[in-house]
Amino acid sequence: MEIIIGGIALLSLLSARLKWLTILASVTAFLMGLIIFLAFNWQGLVILGMFFITSTLLTKWKRDLKRDEKAFHIEEKKGRSAGQVLANGGAALLAAACHIAVPDPVWLILFTAAFATATADTWASEIGVLSKKKPFHIKMWKTVDRGLSGAISPLGTFAAFAGAFLIGFCFYLLFDTSFLVALCVAVSGFVGNLADTVFGAWFEQKFICSKCKKETESRVHCGVKTARIYGVFWVSNNVVNFTSTLIGGMIAGVLYLWINK
Ligand SMILES: [Zn+2]
Repeated sequence: MEIIIGGIALLSLLSARLKWLTILASVTAFLMGLIIFLAFNWQGLVILGMFFITSTLLTKWKRDLKRDEKAFHIEEKKGRSAGQVLANGGAALLAAACHIAVPDPVWLILFTAAFATATADTWASEIGVLSKKKPFHIKMWKTVDRGLSGAISPLGTFAAFAGAFLIGFCFYLLFDTSFLVALCVAVSGFVGNLADTVFGAWFEQKFICSKCKKETESRVHCGVKTARIYGVFWVSNNVVNFTSTLIGGMIAGVLYLWINK
């Protein structure tokens, strides 16, 4: 037990040291790891780790190519913020906390599907941004610049599918569960990612850079403040991510209860 808690602390420290996470984000990640361990043991930590390590590596992967396209230039320098950690892992954390308070097998399903959604979403954006073809925006109904929320490409969609199924497969290997339940988790992760795209397209705020005229999700571009062109003013990328992981988790929870009826 002490060894595992020490391991979580060490990985959190390392994440801050390597600038994967900001200091506050690394403390948040430590507490998240601790609660997940108390709820779902080391197997839960493997699910968290699969999401965290693959997303971090994919963010770093071909970063020179992504630099122009990425919405969040700042995150690459300082590491992911506490807000981003909670946006991706907050829904899963809630499921873990609920399991500690009121143990029930359904919380594990919600937890894993929330991470399947977060993984699908991160893989889709980090891999999809490298698509040779420009992505298609589902609300504007036209092709747009790479890296905008609400746009899809075949490569990004395939990446989302692969990310969700990787978590589903890990879940199948780690926990005493049926193939059908693991499949539900993977499918829910993929559907949660679709919800992410829809929310991103319809509600997420978009800004325009006054210097280069590019549309972006960032409040700062080319060193100047950007102007909001549409979207609901409080709907940031973090709000969209949190909502979609909650939806992905709940879809899996409902499917699970329905299977076991
Ligand atoms: Zn610009």
